[in-house]
Amino acid sequence: MSEAARPTVKEGTSTAKAYAAQSASSGLTAFTIRRRAVRAQDVQIEILFCGVCHSDLHQVRNEWQGVMPTVYPCVPGHEIVGRVVKAGSAVKKFKEGDIAGVGCMVDSDRTCPACQSGEEQFCDGPATFTYNSPDKILGGVTYGGYSQSIVVDEAFALRVPGKLNLAGAAPLLCAGITTYSPMRHWNVRKGQKVGVVGLGGLGHMGLKFAKAFGAHVVLFTTSARKTADAVRLGADEVVVSTDAAQMQKHAGSFDFILDTASAQHDLNAYLQLVKLNWTMTLVGAPEKPTPISAFALLFRRRQLAGSIIGGIRETQEMLDFCADHGLASDIEMIPVQQINQAYERLLKGDVKYRFVIDMASLK
Ligand code: NAP
Ligand code: ZN
Repeated sequence: MSEAARPTVKEGTSTAKAYAAQSASSGLTAFTIRRRAVRAQDVQIEILFCGVCHSDLHQVRNEWQGVMPTVYPCVPGHEIVGRVVKAGSAVKKFKEGDIAGVGCMVDSDRTCPACQSGEEQFCDGPATFTYNSPDKILGGVTYGGYSQSIVVDEAFALRVPGKLNLAGAAPLLCAGITTYSPMRHWNVRKGQKVGVVGLGGLGHMGLKFAKAFGAHVVLFTTSARKTADAVRLGADEVVVSTDAAQMQKHAGSFDFILDTASAQHDLNAYLQLVKLNWTMTLVGAPEKPTPISAFALLFRRRQLAGSIIGGIRETQEMLDFCADHGLASDIEMIPVQQINQAYERLLKGDVKYRFVIDMASLK
């Protein structure tokens, strides 16, 4: 839907410069969007930094069309850190000048059992995602963080602890919570052997959290060149997953494996590494499905699970945990004008380990 065709109430709205994809093959170019007027419970945030998640690339290129087709123009970005420039009259958590974060959700129905238990990511509503979700207030779809500003209900904005580097904190809003939440849910702890598959934005946070939780951590990578970095980031061991002999050495030995790989790969090769009664959890969301061998699960009563981001309460807990433990993302800062090249590099696994857009470059 074109900007002009949006059925909006324009009073009090503002415009913001942004970067948008106009189609699955257009790449991203400059675009102007409208942000809603600040309601009593809203904050308006001037965006300082926005992380670049592989989900942005999947959605910009409409790779998830069977599950959540992309509506164009699409302004991606759900790892947002910025400064509150306006706070509505009922806002309690923030005042003007505070630093705030926004992750993958900007609203939910708040009444379903999932919302009641603080897991808005599973809202029956469903949740309103930060971009490419129906925008119930302005019409059209929501627009994400590759933009100068965003207006969001304070209930979906996070407090960013002062100790955190702001650019390094941005990726925590998705890559951080997506790896923290399943490790907490499956109770990753000292004495366990934990695997992380893939060393990208999610994977490098997975290593840091598994290490901080006291586990013996093994990274599985297709890129032998990442070995030294993996050790620096928290891996006790590194396995090059294309080497069958190296994989076989770890058969039946893992308490938990978190799979962050962004493209199709053989899940059975990892399932056979899991111990009796333990779990492998997918967070990576490849475009194409992968066959599962029943036997990989039957033997040793293994479980294969999935997980998506985390609730707002847990996202705040994760940010506070990072501040307390000196954790943040390792980033490469880019101006927004380099976003298309950054996507190409992401596809080659060529990022250390998260691109973050310096939004000052949009001005
Ligand atoms: P990323 O930075 O591009 O990292 C992905 C890593 O996957 C690569 O660095 C590579 O690691 C590995 N990989 C790529 N192709 C592979 C292949 N064919 N076989 C095996 N491994 C491969 O991506 P990201 O931002 O971390 O996101 C990872 C995935 O998680 C994406 O699919 C994304 O959409 C999804 N995601 C899910 C959630 C959720 O809530 N569940 C949230 C955010 C993102 P090596 O070079 O080390 O092999
Ligand atoms: Zn993401």
